[in-house]
This record gives sequence, structure tokens and C-alpha cells, in this order.
Amino acid sequence: MLQAVDVGRNSIDTYQDSAGSDAVEQLRELARPLKGIRVLHVNATPYGGGVAEILRAEIPLLRDLGLEVDWRIITGGEAFFRTTKAMHNGLQGSERDLTDLDRAIYVENAKINAQLQSKEYDLYFVHDPQPMGLLEFHGRGSAKWIWRCHIDTSQPNPDVWDFLRPFLKHYDAAVFTLGGFVPPDLPIDRVEIIPPAIDPLSPKNMELTPDIANGVLQWIGVDPDRPLTAQVSRFDPWKDPLGVIQAYRVAKEQMPDLQLALVGSMALDDPEGWDIYNQIREIGDKDPDLFVFTNLTGVGNIEVNAFQRMADVVIQLSIREGFGLVVSETLWKGTPVVARAAGGIPLQMEGGAGGVLVQSVEDCATHVARLIEHRDEASRLGELGRELVRERFLLTRMIADELRLYTSVLGMRPPRPTPVAMMGLADEIRDPVSGVAVDPAKAIVFVYEGTTYYFQSEECRQQFCEDPVRFLRSTGSWPVVRKDEG
Ligand code: UDP
Repeated sequence: MLQAVDVGRNSIDTYQDSAGSDAVEQLRELARPLKGIRVLHVNATPYGGGVAEILRAEIPLLRDLGLEVDWRIITGGEAFFRTTKAMHNGLQGSERDLTDLDRAIYVENAKINAQLQSKEYDLYFVHDPQPMGLLEFHGRGSAKWIWRCHIDTSQPNPDVWDFLRPFLKHYDAAVFTLGGFVPPDLPIDRVEIIPPAIDPLSPKNMELTPDIANGVLQWIGVDPDRPLTAQVSRFDPWKDPLGVIQAYRVAKEQMPDLQLALVGSMALDDPEGWDIYNQIREIGDKDPDLFVFTNLTGVGNIEVNAFQRMADVVIQLSIREGFGLVVSETLWKGTPVVARAAGGIPLQMEGGAGGVLVQSVEDCATHVARLIEHRDEASRLGELGRELVRERFLLTRMIADELRLYTSVLGMRPPRPTPVAMMGLADEIRDPVSGVAVDPAKAIVFVYEGTTYYFQSEECRQQFCEDPVRFLRSTGSWPVVRKDEG
């Protein structure tokens, strides 16, 4: 049997305050036809990183809504996780091709895990590339299979993609975070766009008084009375921790009191993390104001909560990003973010809400220092960010999107004629590439086969024009379309 992950219990009713009673009622409505349906979520790690974070919060709520849901992880040794990290990097566009050994390790592991998967389910929800091969060797049986991709696969390394692509061909549906992430020749007809979300009630996001949060930081050696910036992320080159250190150093020239905390969890499926950790640890050892913390040294959810709450500004300098849950987590606490505009980050900071999007390390330093000095502006941006998260990036919205998808994939009622994943914002006009809401009066327009599409930038329009079908295939794509009537 694949190893089950134990999660707590929770009731959907406790989300009435944060998400509103309508949202809770809607979820009950959506779950009604799914009562008793057996669903398995499979991923590679029970902790560390966004997927584990989401599943830990989501599974108890799906159970409370009446579904029979399990969360299991595949097994794998260090060689397997090195291989799958190379695949993860390759899917995000890194140049390293796979070796014959990588391929053999992946196939062997998929076979082993397929044999371990003995209990039967009605629906399999498989997260990311690590367990993707399960279907090939397990067989679909009478179940439906959904692949949920959490990373940016818009420009995969061709060698890695050629190897992984065939493992996808029997899936019934694929889910991506953004329309722009769908790879060009995905062998799955049904594509849905569902951005992830945060749990407002988890220990990481629940309310903490400033006294408690400051107490937590002081306990681990950070001075709450001095300016503080932080990045909370796995130690991964795509998160550019070295860029963050550089930005901190530039900002510190103007603001000698500044402290930086790099808080990074070590995930079971991410052996690369140790190399980066050792590199930044060495730098941190020479600077008493640069702190490096990990889950392995006792910095857990409450500490992350305290950092995201009490930092003057949080940095997220990702070069490539899937969604970047840390951004919504931070904004939910009213703290502004200075971030690179990678992957799903701009979606969470639409229209300047929540902070500043930057292009370079130097820009990052400038805005960090500026927001620390201009506290009113910082808290105004943070407040706007919190409202955007409340509206769009809370767990209740994501579960609603997924329940619609389960129902439709299971054929329990015909697919809705309206987009499945609409974030509850059916009437908004969105850029089909970036997912960002656009004002049609100001947006760049393109008419394709009689339908008008609106884009936030020329770059997005061009990306769409190069391969419209890629974006149109996502029946659940952002409800950007308005049929031209004249
Ligand atoms: N995280 C954590 N401790 C850390 C670093 C990260 O708990 O030291 C959590 C973070 O709060 C977030 C998740 O790991 O919930 C990271 O998700 P994100 O989508 O930002 O990035 P991913 O790791 O999935 O690429």
C-alpha cells in the first residue's frame, strides 16, 4: 500500500468568517452529488513545499463535505528524487537533459509504486511529475485520472518533456495554474485552469497577536525592534536566495539596521535543497543580521506565520514560479511583498495590490528600503493585498473549482457550458495567458474565430497568437471570451 498521510479534522463551517457563508453554502451544494465518492490524492512528499501545504488543508475539508478522500505519497529513494528534481527543473525549462539512468530510475519507481497502490478509487488526482507514471503501470481501471501540474511547464526542456509526455496520454484531464503554463503538445484533451489557494485557518495563516508574533521571533534570535525583511521558500535556485541576499546587502547600505531572514523548508523530494542551504549558511555565518532557518531546526508553521506577519516587507525573488503560495500567505497577513513577476505571482498582486513587482535585484533593494521607510504606503498595499486574497485565493474557492471538475470528469452531470474554473468571478474579463483581470477599454484586443480576447500586454497577445488552440483547449480557461455580436 502507498503510504497514507494523516491529516487533522476540520469543518467547512469554520470558514464562514473568512470566506463568507455563501461560499460555504455553495461548497455544500457542489459536494452533494459527490457524497461517498472515493478520491485519492497522490504526491511525493507529506511536508515542505506548496503541494503538501494545500493537501494538508484540503483533505479534511473534502472529507467533511462527504467525500471519501485519502492522501498517499509515493515511495522513492534519494536517486529517484534527484531524478525527479531534474525532471521538475527540466519541465520549468532547465537545460539539463535526462540520462539513461534517470529514465530507468523513473520507470522502475513508477512500476514499484503502481504495485503498491492496491486500494481502488473512483478518482485519482495525481500531483506533479513524480507520481505521474503511476497510471501507466497501474492501469486506469474504471476510475478517472486527473494530473495536477503545479509548475510552469510553458517551455519545457524538449528532452525531459518527450520522456514524460507519453505517461500523460491516458489521463482524463489536466489542471494547470495559468493558461500560459499549458505545454504546447499536451496529450490530454481536457485542460482546466485552477489557481491554488491558502488556508486562512491553518497554523501558518491564523491570527497571531503582534505580541505573540514578536515573542516568537525574539525567541529565535531576531530583533523585533529593528527593520526586518524575509523570504520564505524552499532552498532552490529558482527561488533565487542568492539574489535576495544581494538585494538585502544593497538595502542595508541605506539602512544599516536591516535584518534578513531566509526561511526555507527541506522537502523529502528535494535533495538539491541541501546544496543551496550549505551555500547560504556559509554566507549567513559571516553576517549576524542574516538569519537562515529551516523546518529541521525547529522553524515551523507558527514561526513562518510570525515572519510573514511581522516582517516590514517580504521578498519573493523567484525566477520561475508555479503559483507562489507564500505571496498569498504574506498578503493575507497584510504585509507587503516585493517580488519578481514570475509565474502566478502577478496574479496575486494584480493592479499593484499587495506590493511591488520588480525586474532586478537592485529594484528589489530600492523598494524594500522605500517600503520600510514609508510605512503608510506599505500598510495600504498590504491591506489591498489581503482583500485580493480574500476574494480569490482562499481554499474555499479552490475546493469549489475542484468539486466542479470532479463532478464533470466523473460524468455525473454534463460539463458545464460555462468555464469550470472561474474563481467565482464569472463575469470578469481575463487575459487567457496570464490569468490577470483586464479592463477591456484599456486591454490589447485580438479577435480569433469570431471571439474577442483581451490581453494585459503585447507579450501575452503574441504568445496567444502563436498557438491559440493551446489556450482555448482549457475549457475552464479564464472567462475572457465575449462573443462578438456585430
Ligand atoms: N514553507 C514552509 N517553511 C519554510 C519554507 C516554505 O512552511 O521554511 C511553505 C510556505 O509557507 C508555503 C510552501 O512551503 O506554504 C511553499 O509553497 P510555494 O507555492 O510558495 O512554493 P513551492 O515550494 O511549492 O515551489
